Amino acid sequence: MIETDVLVIGGGPAGMNAALASAQSGAHVLLVDKFQHLGGQLVKQTHKFFGWAEKGAGTRGFNLAKRLSEDVMNNDNVQILLGYEVVGAYRDGTYLAASWSDHITIKAKKLIVCTGAAERMILFENNDMPGVMGAGAVQTLMNEYGVLPAERFLIVGSGNVGVILAYQLLQAGATVDAIVDVLPKLGGAYWVHAAKVQRLGVPLLLGRTVLGVYGNSRVESAITAKVDEKMQPIPGTEKRHDVDAVALAVGLMPLTDIFQMMGVKTVYVPELGGFVPWHDECGRTTNKDIFVAGDAGGIEEATTASIGGTIAGLAAANDLGYQDNMQAVKDNLEALSIFRTSSLSKKVLEGIERMRGELNA
Ligand SMILES: Cc1cc2nc3c(=O)[nH]c(=O)nc-3n(C[C@H](O)[C@H](O)[C@H](O)COP(=O)(O)OP(=O)(O)OC[C@H]3O[C@@H](n4cnc5c(N)ncnc54)[C@H](O)[C@@H]3O)c2cc1C
Repeated sequence: MIETDVLVIGGGPAGMNAALASAQSGAHVLLVDKFQHLGGQLVKQTHKFFGWAEKGAGTRGFNLAKRLSEDVMNNDNVQILLGYEVVGAYRDGTYLAASWSDHITIKAKKLIVCTGAAERMILFENNDMPGVMGAGAVQTLMNEYGVLPAERFLIVGSGNVGVILAYQLLQAGATVDAIVDVLPKLGGAYWVHAAKVQRLGVPLLLGRTVLGVYGNSRVESAITAKVDEKMQPIPGTEKRHDVDAVALAVGLMPLTDIFQMMGVKTVYVPELGGFVPWHDECGRTTNKDIFVAGDAGGIEEATTASIGGTIAGLAAANDLGYQDNMQAVKDNLEALSIFRTSSLSKKVLEGIERMRGELNA
């Protein structure tokens, strides 16, 4: 058994910043990630991150991961456990982390959950056929393991994830037949990215959905069709795409299993990506010893995940009686609210307001 002051689950930007903030305040921290390296989503991003320069924007994702993980590894108060997934959470503050070959029991006074998000899937004919993949899964194979899982792709979803994936696939030598999106306009990607992939010959087919994929034992083609104003396919508009993979970039949902195991109140907030743990501005949930930060508390992006992680880490250490951090908490809360004045944060702010209103519902 490992005993610690603060257990941080997830080594993405939220978790690394949370671990650093608690550790720099004097707390002993155990940071656990199921992968063999720290970095979370940052590791597979080759583009220069958007967001706030103070939080690493302008730096390529994998370099940002490297920089942050070096800071974490160099902090004597942080113990790192890689290759272990936290699979059990018990209400006496005991947690179970399992690897392929063994397991470890952890006892922690405070828990900060920074588990990030899972990819959404959509319904269409044969959507379980080999060759249908989440965009994040394609990125993991391609950018982390150096494996290009197919040669000809169709991408579903024109948000940042879909558009950035298209560019990365082209860089890796694959072809992208098209990016389709059911919406009549670009689904949230920055124009600068969308314009770039279109210049490279990838058509953006808006108002169109995927009806099915076909092949003998794996994807050999996909059929898409235009949709009407009720999002229903319009007969006669079908188009065949000769591809061997369909990458779904249709949204993310927060990973909340641990909160459910711990009896923490979760609330359904579409603006934040689905079910999220109710939490206050410091990330404290309805269990005062359990905090959330990053995408696990609502889908946003790396700058807010980083600041949210710092705030949760400071607050957890403060609760344990380590150095008085309240001024630093206030400074970070102010930074977060300034960052969220951008029009891009409008939806998230509406979601946060809706979630806070649900405490006694
Ligand atoms: C294609 C793409 C491009 C993006 N581009 C940008 C960008 O340019 N700018 C920007 O600001 N944001 C961008 N983002 C979003 C940003 O990457 C995320 O918002 C951010 O990484 C969220 O950080 P996080 O720490 O909450 O979660 P993640 O980075 O997802 O980290 C979660 C970590 O938790 C670990 N984990 C999960 N469950 C467990 C468990 N039970 N036990 C142990 N470990 C666990 C995972 O292995 C992972 O390492 C992009 C995202 C994608 C997919």
